[in-house]
Amino acid sequence: MTKTFDVAGIGFGPANIALAALFDEESLYSNSVFLDKSVNPTWQQEMLFNNALDIHSNIQNIPHRDLATLRSPRSKYTFMNYLHRTGKLLSHLNMDLLMPMRPDFAAYVGWVAEQLSGKLQTGCGVERITMLDEAHQHVYRIDMQSGEPVFARHVVVGTGREPYIPPAFEELTASGRVFHLNRYNSAHKALLNKGARKFAVVGSSQSAVEILLHLSKYEPRLELHSFMRRFAFPLKDTNPFMSEIYFPSFTEMYFEAGKDLKGRIDRDVRRTNYGACDMDVLEELYRQLYYDRMHGVNRITINRLTDILAAKEEAEGVRLTVRDGETGETRSECFDGVILATGFRNIGSDSRSVRVPRLLEGVQDQLALDEDGCVQVDRSYRAQLQPGFASAGALVLNGLCEATHGMGDAGSLSLLAPRAQTIANALLQQDHDADAGLASGVAAQ
Ligand SMILES: Cc1cc2nc3c(=O)[nH]c(=O)nc-3n(C[C@H](O)[C@H](O)[C@H](O)COP(=O)(O)OP(=O)(O)OC[C@H]3O[C@@H](n4cnc5c(N)ncnc54)[C@H](O)[C@@H]3O)c2cc1C
Repeated sequence: MTKTFDVAGIGFGPANIALAALFDEESLYSNSVFLDKSVNPTWQQEMLFNNALDIHSNIQNIPHRDLATLRSPRSKYTFMNYLHRTGKLLSHLNMDLLMPMRPDFAAYVGWVAEQLSGKLQTGCGVERITMLDEAHQHVYRIDMQSGEPVFARHVVVGTGREPYIPPAFEELTASGRVFHLNRYNSAHKALLNKGARKFAVVGSSQSAVEILLHLSKYEPRLELHSFMRRFAFPLKDTNPFMSEIYFPSFTEMYFEAGKDLKGRIDRDVRRTNYGACDMDVLEELYRQLYYDRMHGVNRITINRLTDILAAKEEAEGVRLTVRDGETGETRSECFDGVILATGFRNIGSDSRSVRVPRLLEGVQDQLALDEDGCVQVDRSYRAQLQPGFASAGALVLNGLCEATHGMGDAGSLSLLAPRAQTIANALLQQDHDADAGLASGVAAQ
């Protein structure tokens, strides 16, 4: 008989690592498995730069908002314990860094993951989730690109969000010349190896600035063009009042809020995390531009108030047709590579969003979608199922619920630990209720 896991986690990034750490420390769901498509999952590997820029590149978070501290400050999986166990605590404290270096935090995430690797299967790119009804017991079947399917009572999808590719570029991503930041390291290196010299960076986010800095510092022979619709790169809003969006009480309030109130909050808090940059990278880029001008070179061009009207692949590169918002003039220019720092897709019915994440398409018939055809989740991040499937296990979206649970649910590490606790509590309660139902059913016979 095929083995059925109690819990299968899809993806082993920070979201599901935080959950696996909780299972381990609380001795829960020992019959669980985590599947990751990568052979060696590493936190945001495509945006780790592996050279001196890393010294300046920090995480946008205080380190105690890690995989465990907010759930249990005594956990062995805290960032502090990582520093302690790897012999770095004193020297790290001595640097007086408010926010750790990104590679250090990636190493911390890897350090936690390594201790939980007994539950991890790597190189498992999940293609499809379906629901089976076996002798009136609903189980999920998880199919991968290769290998045998995995069966589980509960599934926790922690794959991160799909990248947002603006419509003008949708047809061009196969070429290798146009790529989202989630492929930055591998794709830009492949282009450099083919002799690429002229890049366009689209967007005004933190990642856009980091990419401009990285390319300008480590490939000084390149010609870089930044394109943004805004007048300038906006500064991230990190004031402590706004940062209360990273409190569980905010999640509570946002989840209960109606559509209008959610919209009003979103407009207010957007700059805490999206399309906005930290002051340190902005100042560094500004100084770089000044320094270049001082030496009579013009390697970085900032195209502000600019709309990209069309993109077309030609023999010599990708031709962008753009309109200058100031003059109203339209012009076109060819680039060897175009890097999209254009964000990610939430669940929703607008053109930037996705109604049902691709992985859930196989269970679409069992999902109770809303009037716009979008997946609905409860406060515990469980996708709502049709009434006939009430006895099925949970299908949890861990890190995909920005639209329902508020800014930061997907785009920040801040709430990973409390979210893991909420999810674990919901699974336990659901199993308890199912057992109680089963027990009373047996008793009634
Ligand atoms: C460049 C970048 C920098 C960020 N920096 C910060 C920061 O400094 N501070 C902060 O608070 N937040 C930051 N964030 C936001 C957020 O905290 C991170 O995106 C975080 O990594 C989200 O964790 P996750 O586990 O949900 O998803 P991910 O980290 O994306 O992990 C998803 C995992 O799922 C795997 N996977 C994907 N699809 C499949 C599949 N079909 N089958 C199997 N496995 C799959 C992937 O290989 C990956 O290991 C950053 C985001 C980005 C994009």
